[in-house]
Amino acid sequence: MTLHLDARIPSGPLAEKWNRHRFEMKLVNPANKRKNTVIVVGSGLAGGAAAATMSELGYNVKCFCFQDSPRRAHSIAAQGGINAAKNYQNDGDSVYRLFYDTVKGGDFRSREANVYRLAELSLNIIDQCVAQGVPFAREYGGLLANRSFGGAQVSRTFYARGQTGQQLLLGAYQALERQVQRGGLKMYPRTEMLDLVVIDGKARGIVARNLVTGAIESHAADAVVLASGGYGNVFYLSTNAQGSNATAIWRAYKRGAAFANPCFTQIHPTCIPVSGDYQSKLTLMSESLRNDGRVWVPKKAGDKRPPRQIPENERDYFLERKYPSFGNLAPRDIASRAAKEVCDEGRGVGETGLGVYLDFADAIKRLGRAVIQDRYGNLFEMYERITDENPYEVPMRIYPAVHYTMGGLWVDYNLMSTIDGLHVTGEANFSDHGANRLGASALMQGLADGYFIIPNTIGDYLATRKPEKVDASHPAFKDSEREIAERTKKFLSIDGTRTVSSFHRELGKIMWEYCGMARNEAGLKIALQKIPELRAEFWRDVNVPGSDAEINQALEKAGRVADFLELAELMCLDALDRTESCGAHFREEYQTPEGEALRDDEHFAYVAAWEYAGEGKPPILNKEPLIFENVKLSQRSYK
Ligand SMILES: Cc1cc2nc3c(=O)[nH]c(=O)nc-3n(C[C@H](O)[C@H](O)[C@H](O)COP(=O)(O)OP(=O)(O)OC[C@H]3O[C@@H](n4cnc5c(N)ncnc54)[C@H](O)[C@@H]3O)c2cc1C
Repeated sequence: MTLHLDARIPSGPLAEKWNRHRFEMKLVNPANKRKNTVIVVGSGLAGGAAAATMSELGYNVKCFCFQDSPRRAHSIAAQGGINAAKNYQNDGDSVYRLFYDTVKGGDFRSREANVYRLAELSLNIIDQCVAQGVPFAREYGGLLANRSFGGAQVSRTFYARGQTGQQLLLGAYQALERQVQRGGLKMYPRTEMLDLVVIDGKARGIVARNLVTGAIESHAADAVVLASGGYGNVFYLSTNAQGSNATAIWRAYKRGAAFANPCFTQIHPTCIPVSGDYQSKLTLMSESLRNDGRVWVPKKAGDKRPPRQIPENERDYFLERKYPSFGNLAPRDIASRAAKEVCDEGRGVGETGLGVYLDFADAIKRLGRAVIQDRYGNLFEMYERITDENPYEVPMRIYPAVHYTMGGLWVDYNLMSTIDGLHVTGEANFSDHGANRLGASALMQGLADGYFIIPNTIGDYLATRKPEKVDASHPAFKDSEREIAERTKKFLSIDGTRTVSSFHRELGKIMWEYCGMARNEAGLKIALQKIPELRAEFWRDVNVPGSDAEINQALEKAGRVADFLELAELMCLDALDRTESCGAHFREEYQTPEGEALRDDEHFAYVAAWEYAGEGKPPILNKEPLIFENVKLSQRSYK
């Protein structure tokens, strides 16, 4: 271990930590704020909220995204909702319950203090978004409506039909544009960060490529915030937007930011099954559908009858059977593995046998078609467009798919990485979700980070560390520009025989097979052999057409896939090293007699923070022990 991982968790009782910390943190005088420049990479919910709020406070903000508009950030795809412990339903919710559900849902692999703060801030988020005009669903009497998500027995999920992310992002985008108009925030769309610049141990800026002109541009700042999203696309097929990638955080890792729990990947149980070899994207069917849809497969293996011809007593509602108290709302890791299990037994449905039914017949009978349409209309429409099957008439077919990455850059309580001044928010950090994220909690985390945490903690960093002024003519920027130019030249000069996508697809297959829903030692070792071989072949035989002086999507993709080819190896190393099962990290060797994840708290109640050791050298594992003072570690049960 070479890093000193100080999580800087404030002292005092859990419920008072954040408030007390806010008071103890140093402030930047309003007149001095504009003298500080903060770079925000990302304009999704985490980045957009952070950039708008810091600009509103008076900081000079530069915000970057690779899409043509902040509105196209992957956050826009979020469907089901956002959690908050408002207890509008009076069904027993509280900040403490949301905190407890999240720690338990993450299989006791997250930091108590962070999770408690998240639950506390969930209340402010809803107020903030309502004030912005986000059109959350409402009850007949006008109060905000709620529905349930997995791993919770209360209804605490706020939603805007199946378009919650879109509506929240429009709220953040308006706040962002207001600041652009005011002149305190400059937006750099179609600009991709390719390196982090660290000077005297502090993050001092980024080097980015203008994706339209190809120009390599340096930007200096007093602090940098990465809000660049998750890295699920390392699996090639995932529910993420196709452009989502790991480059920003991977470049930061290579400059000294520790990467925490890289192997913790969420596989979402309700996605439209894979239909063919040349598919490039998977589609989520929101978890909210499990409020009313019932999951089942035929009891008999190989039963090929159409679903409506299979009588009730020949169906296995396996989630309701195995987990009677949570039923169809069992958490994602558990529901995904249960689906895999019945498919492995030969009871899967659809042409490939890799599918289970999500059936709305009972709900339609009970509530009427209009109610179901009102709740999930756009999701049903999306499903029908993709599969050509009408889910009002026949059950949906769903199967687990890669959806979210709980791993990410390690951050302390202030959301600062192991590089001074480099802060990380949203899905890009290793987050508050432990080994498994509960549904509707990513939006909550991204917005808590962006609207409420970083605007406070960035001030404390600037006020206490007082970074010296640096500009982009510093040699560190020039060195980085040169390295990027060389790497770009290399991509374009290989002139091999295989497309970037073919490498990406092959990498995805390796990852899904050996580091996916279930992992074991032998498989991970195979992956650790195959990935470097594939990486070597990539650098020998990839074909990147075109030039670097214009829009060149193959070139953009080459850089992202080159980074995935390195990150994948770290994920497998982490999965191999963690010889326990927890949450979504299911090591087949470690399971209870009922087939559930078997944790080893004595040896693994820690955050694994991997440190880059240099080209060709094995990364160094650092450990942040997780200390539980408020919840009792127990075998997670949803039975
Ligand atoms: C289909 C789907 C549905 C979901 N539904 C829900 C839900 O209902 N509830 C919930 O809580 N969560 C949901 N999630 C998860 C949630 O949407 C994401 O975790 C969250 O939106 C991530 O937000 P973010 O701001 O961290 O990242 P993103 O929204 O991915 O934004 C990343 C930003 O970083 C920029 N960026 C990335 N790399 C670079 C670079 N190198 N240079 C410049 N810019 C860069 C991008 O341009 C973008 O602006 C869902 C996820 C998926 C895939």
